[in-house]
Amino acid sequence: MSSFLNCQHCSHQIHVSAPACPKCGAPTAKASSPAVNVSNTIVWILAFAPLIGLILESFMAGALAQSEYDAAQAMASSKYWYISLILNIGLSAAEDARLKKEGFDTSSFGKFFFLVPVFLWKRAKAFNQSPAYFWTWIGMFLFATISTAFIGS
Ligand SMILES: [Zn+2]
Repeated sequence: MSSFLNCQHCSHQIHVSAPACPKCGAPTAKASSPAVNVSNTIVWILAFAPLIGLILESFMAGALAQSEYDAAQAMASSKYWYISLILNIGLSAAEDARLKKEGFDTSSFGKFFFLVPVFLWKRAKAFNQSPAYFWTWIGMFLFATISTAFIGS
């Protein structure tokens, strides 16, 4: 394997470890795509948190209601809405805390832990990742909202 490659800008031969071409200064592929090696386990759980929250809410409604009708009413009125809220914000805050502990800079998104979709979007941008977990969260949120509306009808 060659340890040299050609500059995409001026074709000058540059070493693979160089962040930029020494002749023309153009950044190499290595410098332009700094893929951050960071675990996405918590953000992927967070992406499904609206659905997990809905399931926890229905367990709570089932456990505390006197009848099936009461349980359905509790779900339709989002009586236990705070369970989803605590789950979502809790996971965001936990992820922010974990990243800080591992030495990552979370200054661009950490403060948005209570605005979960903003947190996910800005985290993806900060780490140069695909915002797939952001879109998954949006999809799960819509699904949970529509499901709640159907229970009420
Ligand atoms: Zn060059």
